[in-house]
Amino acid sequence: DTSRRMNQELEYRVQERTEKLEMANARLRELSDTDELTGLKNRRFLDKVASEEWVRSRRHQHSMAFLMVDIDFFKRVNDTYGHQDGDVCLKAVARKLTEGLRSPTDMVVRYGGEEFCVLLPVTDVIGARTVAERMRELVEKMDIMASAGTLRLTVSIGVYAAIPSAERTIEYMIKCADLALYDAKHSGRNRVAVYREKDMNKVTKLPSNNNNNTTKPS
Ligand code: GH3
Ligand code: MG
Ligand code: MG
Repeated sequence: DTSRRMNQELEYRVQERTEKLEMANARLRELSDTDELTGLKNRRFLDKVASEEWVRSRRHQHSMAFLMVDIDFFKRVNDTYGHQDGDVCLKAVARKLTEGLRSPTDMVVRYGGEEFCVLLPVTDVIGARTVAERMRELVEKMDIMASAGTLRLTVSIGVYAAIPSAERTIEYMIKCADLALYDAKHSGRNRVAVYREKDMNKVTKLPSNNNNNTTKPS
């Protein structure tokens, strides 16, 4: 009767509260994994997912790949058109890179500033290079509607793909993709460069050296 009804009511309220709390927690977790400006996942999230993928790839002896993407001459965009249009460009590039993905397990994250990192699980160097080249081209062809008018941008992309090992840690892999990015920048920008271990000396000798590992824009 009365006390039973009151108990039921109380139970119902507790349950409702718990559900609301759980939803708020899930939302918080999602927020801390997400970059606010672009809506992409952030570096923190990449670290989590990449370590899981690394373990899986090592166990199955699959290749996995990282692409490091950096907008070319982005400082110039901010200086010429202002930060707000700069932000418009960042969002547009984020969207384009995502468009370039094919597999649902592939992921683009905002790595920092105007740099993005793409994680491609179960992907070898040929596949990774194909994705990188597609992304480069998609960005190159994109018209960005900013307040200053229609803007165009290009990106440089560094590629590294390998089967994980004790020496090939995630940090090492990302470092290699970053070295390749450096290579792409110094051989003219708006291009894709692949890091290969056997060419290590060549890559570290840059920028004085021109490398034949780059893809020239068509
Ligand atoms: P490079 O081709 O060598 O990459 O030249 P760059 O000008 O892109 O490189 P640099 O590292 O000199 O400049 C990066 C610029 O990115 C500097 C900063 O103004 C801009 N930037 C970084 N984060 C943001 C952001 O959140 N919003 C805007 N609008 N600009 C950003
Ligand atoms: Mg940069
Ligand atoms: Mg840049």
